[in-house]
Amino acid sequence: MTRMAQSGLRRKALRAMPILLYSSGLKLNAANPMCAICLSDFEAGEHVRVLPKCNHGFHVRCIDRWLLARSTCPTCRQPLFATPGPVHSVLVPLRPEGFVTPYDF
Ligand SMILES: [Zn+2]
Ligand SMILES: [Zn+2]
Repeated sequence: MTRMAQSGLRRKALRAMPILLYSSGLKLNAANPMCAICLSDFEAGEHVRVLPKCNHGFHVRCIDRWLLARSTCPTCRQPLFATPGPVHSVLVPLRPEGFVTPYDF
């Protein structure tokens, strides 16, 4: 059994990214919403995965194959995740919308 080298995202990370049903009202970070991988326009009702960092959208089947090999956005080449390293924790947990602390008088 050979272990395949994985330089891309793991399926778990893929699953964490939102999948939306494309409609003309969907706000993507593009003037011309199209999939930069297969170069075709999105059709209403297609499943589109939106990258959380840059808000670029792609067909689920296209971006999943892309991301298994590399972890950058095909459109803007931003790394989707910061490379893990000895970084001090700077993550500030985002408050969910409408979050109310019970002790906030
Ligand atoms: Zn595509
Ligand atoms: Zn992007």
